[in-house]
Amino acid sequence: MTDEKKNMAGLTTAEAKQLQQQFGKNELIPQKTESFFNKALHIICEPMFLLLIVAAIIYFILGEPRDGAIMLIFVISIISIDVIQEWKTDKTLSALKDLSAPNITVIRNGKEMVIASVDLVPGDLMMVYEGVKIPADGAVVKCNDLCVDESSLTGEAEGVWKVATDNVELSDDYWRKDYCYAGTLVTQGIGIINVDKIGAATEYGKIGVNVAAALDEPTPLQKQTGRLVKTCAGIAGVLFVLVGVVTYFNLPDHTLGARLIESILSGITLAMAMIPEEFPVIMTVFLSMGAWRLAKEQSLVRKLPSVETLGSVSILCVDKTGTITMNQMTVQYTWAFDGDEHALLETMGFGCETDAYDPMEKAMLACCDSHGISKAHLFSGELVMEYAFTNELKMMGHVWRKNGKLVIAAKGSPEQILTICSLSDQEKEIAMRKVTEMSKEGLRVIAVATAVPATELEIPATITECSLSLCGLIGLADPPRESVKADIAICRKAGIRVVMITGDNGITASSIAKKIGMEHSDNIITGDMLNEMSDKELKKAVKDVSIFSRVIPEHKMRIVKAFKENSEIVAMTGDGVNDAPALKYADIGIAMGKRGSEVSREAADLILMDDNFTTIVETVKDGRRIYDNIRKAFGYVFTIHIPIAFASLIAPILGVAPSALMLLPLHVVLLELLIDPTCSIILERQPAETDIMERKPRDPKEKLLSMRTMLKSILQGITIFTASFGTYFTVLASNPVNAPVARAMGLTIVMLSNLLLVQVNSSDKDFAYQSFSRLSKDPVMWISNIGTMLMLVIILYTPLSGLLKLAPLSAGQFFCSMGIAALAVLWYELVKLFNRLSKR
Ligand code: ADP
Ligand code: MG
Repeated sequence: MTDEKKNMAGLTTAEAKQLQQQFGKNELIPQKTESFFNKALHIICEPMFLLLIVAAIIYFILGEPRDGAIMLIFVISIISIDVIQEWKTDKTLSALKDLSAPNITVIRNGKEMVIASVDLVPGDLMMVYEGVKIPADGAVVKCNDLCVDESSLTGEAEGVWKVATDNVELSDDYWRKDYCYAGTLVTQGIGIINVDKIGAATEYGKIGVNVAAALDEPTPLQKQTGRLVKTCAGIAGVLFVLVGVVTYFNLPDHTLGARLIESILSGITLAMAMIPEEFPVIMTVFLSMGAWRLAKEQSLVRKLPSVETLGSVSILCVDKTGTITMNQMTVQYTWAFDGDEHALLETMGFGCETDAYDPMEKAMLACCDSHGISKAHLFSGELVMEYAFTNELKMMGHVWRKNGKLVIAAKGSPEQILTICSLSDQEKEIAMRKVTEMSKEGLRVIAVATAVPATELEIPATITECSLSLCGLIGLADPPRESVKADIAICRKAGIRVVMITGDNGITASSIAKKIGMEHSDNIITGDMLNEMSDKELKKAVKDVSIFSRVIPEHKMRIVKAFKENSEIVAMTGDGVNDAPALKYADIGIAMGKRGSEVSREAADLILMDDNFTTIVETVKDGRRIYDNIRKAFGYVFTIHIPIAFASLIAPILGVAPSALMLLPLHVVLLELLIDPTCSIILERQPAETDIMERKPRDPKEKLLSMRTMLKSILQGITIFTASFGTYFTVLASNPVNAPVARAMGLTIVMLSNLLLVQVNSSDKDFAYQSFSRLSKDPVMWISNIGTMLMLVIILYTPLSGLLKLAPLSAGQFFCSMGIAALAVLWYELVKLFNRLSKR
C-alpha cells in the first residue's frame, strides 16, 4: 500500500477506540449525569415526602412503631416508583437526544460511515459538504469548491475559500486557509478534513462560546402546572391549620401532648391528600413518552415544549418539492424552439452537473439517455467554466470544450433564461405562451439556451452577461405524494391552513395546489411581489393567500412573520442553510431528515425523518392527542383527590374520633401509591379521540384545567366522596366499634371508583367500555387493573388488613361496596349519552 492510499483509508475502528480513550469525546463540556443518590435526595426534598416522613416519625413518637414502619415501607415504595419513573424518562430523553444528535461522515477502515459527531477523534478523516456545521478542527486534505462561513469564529461575514494543505505555502495568518474550524459552516462545495483537535481543544472550544449549556426553560405547561401546585399547596396549608385546630378542640378529654399530636396528624393527612404532586410527574412523563412515540413514527422532537405547541398549529407552511410532491421527476414534454429536438436535449444534458444528485437533473440525464445521448458522450469534453446555480438567479450554465470547440449550455427558469436570450418580441411572446400552457398542466418548465463563443476570451464572466439563443423548453412532472390530498382535507377539517412555498413558477404551483385540493389555489404571491410589499401589506395579504411562488429562502422569514402577526401558530418546513432563521422563528420549525442540511436540523424543533407531508399531519394529530391526555389526566387526578381530601377534612369537623377516621395517613399514602401509576399508565396510552382532527386548533393561552373540566371533576369527586364517606359514616353510626369495617368499605369504594374513573375519563365522548376495548390488547393496562384488584384483596383478606386497621368484608359488604362505587362513577356515562343524543 502506498502512503497516500493508506492515508485515505482513515483510522481503523480499533485505532479510533484507543484514541478516544486517550482524548475523550468530542464535546465542549463533558456530559454530567445526576447520581442515583442525588435523584433520591431530590425526591425526598419534595413537600409530599417531608410530610410522609413527619407522619412516620409521629407514629414512632406515639409509641406505635408498627404503624411507623408500615408508613416507611410505603414511603420507600413511592420513592422507588418515582425513581424508576424518572430514570425511565431520563433514558427516553437521552435516547431522543442521541437520535437527533449531529452526525458526521468519516472514512474508517477504508469505508465511508456515519458516526455521531461526539465520537470523532484526532486522526479521523471527515467529509464535509454544503450545510454541514464542522464539528472539529482539522487540515483540509482534499477539497472541491469548498467555501466556509467562519463568522461565528472570526466575525468575518465573507465566506472563506479553502485549499488543500498540500497546495499551500506556510503563511503567518492565524486563521489558515488550509484548515477548517469547529463551529463554522460549509456553505458550498465538498472537502475531506483530517481531524486534528477535538472538543475543548478546538479554537471554538478555547473561546468558550456557548459553553454555558442553555438551561432547559420550563415550558408554558410546566409553568401552569407549577402555579397549580402552588395554589393547591397554599390551600392545603390553610386547611392543615383549620383541621388541626378543630381536632384539638374535639379532644378535650385527652392530655395536651396527645391532643397536639392527634391534631398535627389529622392536619398532615389532609395536607397529603391535597398536594397534587402528581401534576408535574404527569407533565414530564406524558411529554417525554409522547416524544418517544413520535420518534418511532419518523418524527424527532428536538425540544419537548414543541409537543405542546404542536396541538395549536394553525398554519402549516410546506415546501412543495419533496414534501408535497414525491421529488421524483420525469421529463414529460419537450418543445424545441427551432424544431431540433436532438440539439435541445443535448444542450440540456451539457447543462447538467456531471455527478447529478438533483432529481431534476437526474431526470434530464435519464431522458437524454433514452434518446441515445449517453453521459459518456455528454461529459467527455473539458469543463471550462461553471455558472453556479443560485436561488436568486434560478438558472445555471456550463461551458464545455469539445473537439476543440467551445459551447455554452444554460438552463433555468424561463423568466430568467429568456432575459438573456436574443429574441424578438414576437418570439418571446410565443415562448412565454408555451411556458404558460405547460405550467398549467402542473409541469415544472425549464428553458434551455446555448451559445458558441469563438475563443475563451469571449466567455462572459457571469451568466447574466451572456447572450444566448433559445433551444427550447422542457416540462418536468413531479407528481404529488399519494396521500397528500387526503391529508389536506384532514387539515382543513382541523382548522389548519396549508401554505405552499416553492421556488417554482406560480402557475405550476397553482395547478398542483388545485390537484391536491388546497384552498385559495388561485391567489399567488410571487417573490417579486413580496419584495414590493411592506410588512403591513403582506400581513393583510396572507389572510387569503396559500401559495408563494418563485421565492428565495430569505423570503420565508417574512412569510412566517406575517402569519405570526396575524396571531397564527406557524409550523414551517425547510431544508437549506438559508432556511435556518425562518425555522428558528417559526413556532414549530420542521427540518428534513433526508435531504435537509445539518444547520437546518439544528435550527428546527422537529426533524422529519421521512420528509413526508403525511408525517407532519400525523405529528400534529399526536400533539393534540398528547395534550388531550394530559388534560384528562389532570382532571382525573383532581377528581380523585376530592374524596380523599374531603374525607380528611369533614370527619374531624363532624367530630369523628381520631382513631375511627375513614382515612388515616396510612390509607392516604396507600391511595397515592395507586393514583400516579394508574393514570401515567392508562391515560398516557389513550389513543386519540375520533374527532380530534375535527376541532379547531387549541388556543395556546387556554387553561389546562378549564372551567368545564373543573366542574366535571368537582361533580365526579363529590359523588365519589358522598358514596364512600356516606357508606363509611352510615356503617360507623350503626355501630361505633365497627370502625375497621366502615373504613374498609369506604376505602374499597374509593379504590374501585378510582379503577372505573380512569376508564370513564379516558374519553369525553366515547363510553367507558369503548375506551376499555381499545386498549384491551395492551398487557400493561391489564397489569394495572389487575394490580389494583389484587392490592384490594391483599389489604382486605390477608393479615395485612389488621395492620392497616381494616377488617375483611363479608361477600355482601364487598358487593354492596362494588355496586355503590359503580353508581358513584358510571353516572357520567349517562351524561355522555345525553350529550350524544342532543348533538344528533
Ligand atoms: P422548489 O422550492 O420547488 O424546490 P427550487 O428552489 O429547487 O424549487 O428551484 C426553483 C427554480 O429554479 C426551478 O423552478 C427551476 O426553474 C430553477 N432550478 C432549480 N434547479 C435547477 C437546476 N439544477 N438547473 C436549472 N434550473 C434550476
Ligand atoms: Mg428544490
